[in-house]
Amino acid sequence: MNYFVDHQKKRIHLKRFVGDRCGFMDTPTQKREFTDKKSYIEQLEEQNSYINCPYCQSIQRLNK
Ligand SMILES: [Zn+2]
Repeated sequence: MNYFVDHQKKRIHLKRFVGDRCGFMDTPTQKREFTDKKSYIEQLEEQNSYINCPYCQSIQRLNK
């Protein structure tokens, strides 16, 4: 799974499902990051209070 991190809003999107509704459009490019490192994502969640984007999460559930 590839992740798209919005460092401005502290949100973690799923690259596969991310879209306009996720609200990252006003986040500057330098605050956006792509990664496939699950451990890095978990670290952001646990130590930096990043949250999983509810929109990406709901789409992921529908597709399971
Ligand atoms: Zn999202």
